[in-house]
Amino acid sequence: NRKYLLAKRPEGKPDRDTFELVEEDVPEPGPGEVLVRTLYLSVDPYMRGRMDAGESYAEPWEVGDPLRAGVVGEVVESNGAGFEAGDVVTGNLDWADYATARGSELQSVNPDLGPISTTLGVLGMPGRTAYFGTREVAEPKAGDTFVVTGAAGAVGSVAGQIAKLSGARVVGFAGSDEKVEFLEDELGFDAGINYKETDDYRAALDEAAPDGVDSYFDNVGGPITDAVFSKLNVDARVAVCGQISMYNAEEIPTGPRKLGKLIETRATVEGLLVGDFAPRFEEATRRLAEWIAEDEIRYRETVTEGLENAPDAFLGLFEGENIGKQIVKVGER
Ligand code: NDP
Repeated sequence: NRKYLLAKRPEGKPDRDTFELVEEDVPEPGPGEVLVRTLYLSVDPYMRGRMDAGESYAEPWEVGDPLRAGVVGEVVESNGAGFEAGDVVTGNLDWADYATARGSELQSVNPDLGPISTTLGVLGMPGRTAYFGTREVAEPKAGDTFVVTGAAGAVGSVAGQIAKLSGARVVGFAGSDEKVEFLEDELGFDAGINYKETDDYRAALDEAAPDGVDSYFDNVGGPITDAVFSKLNVDARVAVCGQISMYNAEEIPTGPRKLGKLIETRATVEGLLVGDFAPRFEEATRRLAEWIAEDEIRYRETVTEGLENAPDAFLGLFEGENIGKQIVKVGER
């Protein structure tokens, strides 16, 4: 059984040396436990926070700990855990070929809702983040202008489409022309901005959001957020979901610098943590599955093959290598 451990805490950007691959015997499930064979594994930006000793919005890993991720896997053996061999389940498990877990730590995957990999993306944690963050926090209304950063990623791509369903004008920031094309041509965004092509985000917004910004879903932070703040309208709503532009920063740059705009606009800025909506996860999954079936919401996955490439898939999140949800395919079903 191959398994990844946290080899050391990264300083700034993590690299291959952050990860250590070890081989061990396939673990035996104890009483009330199952043995799960990994089919798909998720890599997510929040895992960067867990690699540091300090607090982030998730608990830190210790050096030498197995890395853990959202996994979709097949039950190989159940030791009185309420599952049967062959069941497809999801849970937070080791970055490994096989892992054991208590039955209570796992949920069944319903393959009728969509391909099982979507449990880690549009029908799982990122989709739910987009659903609740857009509908409950950023709250775009018909005729509003909604801006989302990290727009071609797992959360952002879904958030923008949900905003579109509310009747808003939707503008997305993303890091390549290919991504802008994806937003505009495939997802129906009104405008995409390739932030790597310009430093003048304010001018780009003057063009893409001529009526100002009523609702902002922030995945990125930093200077793009400063520019969006400078365009906020009266009573605008800002959902702070992520700040990925700073996750690898050794020193946090000064800012945000445009808080004065909040006085002028009485805008509301609210942090968002998907876990707070746990009692309503089923609602989000059901609604998202319906929208996909109706072709109201489209999604993309970037699939990296092989557990051995999981570190590269994770590191690629910080280089913008993924379109839609980045997952790692570990085993065949
Ligand atoms: P994504 O699929 O969006 O992948 C990350 C993307 O971020 C990359 O593809 C890249 O796209 C962009 N990016 C990376 N570095 C930078 C940078 N320096 N500046 C601007 N963009 C950058 O990841 P997720 O959808 O899973 O997560 C998106 C955000 O939401 C993250 O910040 C994450 O932490 C947060 N999150 C928060 C949750 C919560 O409960 N609060 C839950 C889930 C996610 P590009 O090519 O555009 O640069």
